[in-house]
Amino acid sequence: MQEQELDYQTVSGAWETLLQAEAVFFDLDGCIYFSDRLAGGAKELLHFLEEKKKQIRFVTNNSTDSGVQVAARLSRMGLEVRPEHVMTATELVGLHLLKTYGKQTLKVIGSPSLHAALEQYGHDVLPLDSTIQAQMVVVGRDTEFDYNKLQFLVEEADRGTPLLATNPDLTHPGNRGQKVLETGALYAPVEAITRKKVDYFGKPAPYMFQLTMEKCGIRSSKACVMVGDNLYTDIAGGSSSGMKTIWLYGPSGSSTIPIDAVNPDYALQDLQTLADFNTK
Ligand SMILES: [Mg+2]
Repeated sequence: MQEQELDYQTVSGAWETLLQAEAVFFDLDGCIYFSDRLAGGAKELLHFLEEKKKQIRFVTNNSTDSGVQVAARLSRMGLEVRPEHVMTATELVGLHLLKTYGKQTLKVIGSPSLHAALEQYGHDVLPLDSTIQAQMVVVGRDTEFDYNKLQFLVEEADRGTPLLATNPDLTHPGNRGQKVLETGALYAPVEAITRKKVDYFGKPAPYMFQLTMEKCGIRSSKACVMVGDNLYTDIAGGSSSGMKTIWLYGPSGSSTIPIDAVNPDYALQDLQTLADFNTK
């Protein structure tokens, strides 16, 4: 009974924060959907927030797909969103490089969408075997990653080419609940071999949060709420960017926060909990 009372207060607090915000940023996997299934309450909640004139963006460390591809996937699940409202690490890393360093000569390990997005922002993408030294090597999730690509990354790191990973995630959940290898798993051996840290762009680094705010025309992070299921990326990044955070602890039902994690402002099981409170 006590627990229920506590839950109620948490939900109402989270709602108050949402209603005061100008923009609400949602993680996708484990938040808006689970693998290929839309999260319960997602549609109702998003509709409600749209009616309240909140700016909604989806901020994902996905480094394989473009916003168009993600929006198409959401559409197959029954959720219509505008592709330009989906902020993917795949696309934003190119914008980040352009704003920070100008047009770059790059070598890229990653999906065709990552290559295309980097070129769209004006960067030159060289073949991996080009004798010209790139200014930087960008690493995204690459399902054709192999021994030769690992060898390439180690040699580039050793010759002093900066490596930038799209995102630090080691895995993302597959449709059978299995761990699907992510970008972090591909560059972890490079760090182990070269004893050099590889920088990354995606959450929890501040860049995705900043670029998303800029695209919304919002100056103060205090006007934004980040909603997500990962304490180490969504909550840590949102919180250090100065946003309010809502952590969805998910199907496991355990809201225990590990000692090395950042505390969210609110902890709820899922979007359904949030949606049921105000949209029925
Ligand atoms: Mg997630």
